[in-house]
Amino acid sequence: MTSRDQLLTQAARLLRQRAEIDATDLFMDNLTRPEALRLAAAARSAAPASRADPPSATSASVSAAPEPTGPSAGGGALPLLPTSYTELRDAAMSCTRCRLAEGRTNVVFSDGSESARLMVVGEAPGANEDKTGLPFVGQAGKFLDLLLATVDLSREDSVYICNVLKCRPPGNRNPMPDEIESCSPYLEKQIELVQPEVLLAVGTFAAQLLTGRQKIALGKLRGEVHSYHGVPLVVTYHPAALLRNPKWTRAFWDDLQLLRGIMDSA
Ligand code: SF4
Repeated sequence: MTSRDQLLTQAARLLRQRAEIDATDLFMDNLTRPEALRLAAAARSAAPASRADPPSATSASVSAAPEPTGPSAGGGALPLLPTSYTELRDAAMSCTRCRLAEGRTNVVFSDGSESARLMVVGEAPGANEDKTGLPFVGQAGKFLDLLLATVDLSREDSVYICNVLKCRPPGNRNPMPDEIESCSPYLEKQIELVQPEVLLAVGTFAAQLLTGRQKIALGKLRGEVHSYHGVPLVVTYHPAALLRNPKWTRAFWDDLQLLRGIMDSA
């Protein structure tokens, strides 16, 4: 292992330790996305020896919530829903189904592997994502990459990342119900085509949509295994929320262990 790899491995170990002790400050201000991804790769080689024993899926609390009718539980299906991944992506790239098409720079469809075991679903693109066309590329994205690396997961090979909305709401405001209704059929089809083993919903909007529990606070949804049409679903805080509230890092860590346990027992 090179000195650079050793440094990255140590950084990943530091992150794990920080999560365990509820550390409140972050070290990522100057870390670029490629560096974060290299860190993820380094962590994959270090994780098996140092990872805490994850809970098994069978020992986890499994939600008895009714099955959601789909991401578009609140309504609308695409009139002509493409059946291939490429066609679906192309349709989203030129979509004008809601008002968000007017202000976007880029449609942010996805990042990561289309054969991923894990699909991470966030809320909506922010300024960096709108600019680049890729989800989770800002500080929150770097943080997410590092946290996933601690449980041996990376968007380079095992993670697919997308959002409920594919276009940026102005001023990063919350998604409107009709925007979610218009856009969620894309997410529904993405899940169907990628066929992940496990779903991770980060943030309130993704969690409520995928669990079908629209009125329930995120804090009451996390900590158990839900089911999205038979696919195990874990919900947790959005990484941007962790940056604002580092005390939630421990809860996110616990949710990642729950997620890892499901994948390890698959
Ligand atoms: S947010 Fe979704 S539904 Fe609205 S224009 Fe963008 S891709 Fe289409």
